[in-house]
Amino acid sequence: MENNTGAPTGVLKDSFGRSFPYLRLSITDVCNFRCSYCLPDGYQCSSKPSFLNSDEIRRLVDGFAGLGVHKIRLTGGEPTVRKDFTDIARLVSSHPAITQTAFTTNGYRLREHAQEWRNAGLSHINVSVDSLNAERFHAITGHNRLREVLEGIDAALDAGFKQVKVNVVLLKGVNDHELSEFLAWAKSTPISIRFIELMQTGDNLDYFRKYHLSADVIIQQLVEAGWQKKSRAFDAGPAQEYVHPDYHGSIGLIAPYSKDFCKGCNRLRVTSIGDLRLCLFGSQGTSLRHLLQNDAQQPLLTQLIHDQLVFKCSSHFLDLGDTGITPHLASVGG
Ligand code: SAM
Ligand code: SF4
Repeated sequence: MENNTGAPTGVLKDSFGRSFPYLRLSITDVCNFRCSYCLPDGYQCSSKPSFLNSDEIRRLVDGFAGLGVHKIRLTGGEPTVRKDFTDIARLVSSHPAITQTAFTTNGYRLREHAQEWRNAGLSHINVSVDSLNAERFHAITGHNRLREVLEGIDAALDAGFKQVKVNVVLLKGVNDHELSEFLAWAKSTPISIRFIELMQTGDNLDYFRKYHLSADVIIQQLVEAGWQKKSRAFDAGPAQEYVHPDYHGSIGLIAPYSKDFCKGCNRLRVTSIGDLRLCLFGSQGTSLRHLLQNDAQQPLLTQLIHDQLVFKCSSHFLDLGDTGITPHLASVGG
């Protein structure tokens, strides 16, 4: 479909028939945590980075909305380190075509700001909690903040977020024995706990070799305990969801090394400096930023995004050890 400027509109589709209603927008690659699989030495910066400003973000959202995107997730780095995070949240969620604005956070400011962010229009939240043991949480993230992050999750539930998900990166010999603690939490709390298989990135090969564990280990334990796999909604992402009648919460598994993982891909990514990434582990990015400088550039912006879709591959090549240009997920927005 085209509008009267000749620029494409409507639903973005790639050569494999996948459509892309979902954009993950990184707004910073700065992070205050030092997760051992992501930024073990903390955030390193050689020159002062210049992240997309609110006008650029507004134009970007307009462009993607015109191409059928209706769900946007703000991520990073740690998105909430930005002083204008609430303003960005309000800007994105108030776009008439955006029906769902989500964000992913390490939760360090959640306890104090959950209600403010909900009021700004954020409706879905993912909080990373890799361990329910305070010492282990500290060892993994570099921060002794488990308690305040858990209080932040309570605050998000109280603030009326429509969905609260907890991301747990599965680490062999570190947190893989904590399933029962996570299940006990999900028993009475309406959260979705998502176990994510550790992914290899440019910077973490040794770590990956030591700690990667297949999500099958968790699936087997869930099935033995009576959990059932939910049938996938037609527009669902790549997570496999499990439910149990005795539990308020649910469990999701994200297994990027599993066969057919990429068949369910429904998302595109834009980095904090405005590069379009067709895949988390792609071999190139395409800068959109020069087309975010004034409103009159919208037709050129949507044309460029539309034209890039032919380069989206059917799958990543992680199983071959090819991590593309991604040194760590903080650089792209996980
Ligand atoms: N800082 C925020 C946070 O940690 O939630 C948002 C950005 S972080 C890159 C997004 C998600 O990616 C987090 O849940 C994090 O645990 C996950 N992640 C980071 N590196 C990963 C890796 N190598 N493999 C699997 N998940 C990873
Ligand atoms: Fe920061 Fe998130 Fe990476 Fe942890 S996973 S270092 S919180 S960006």
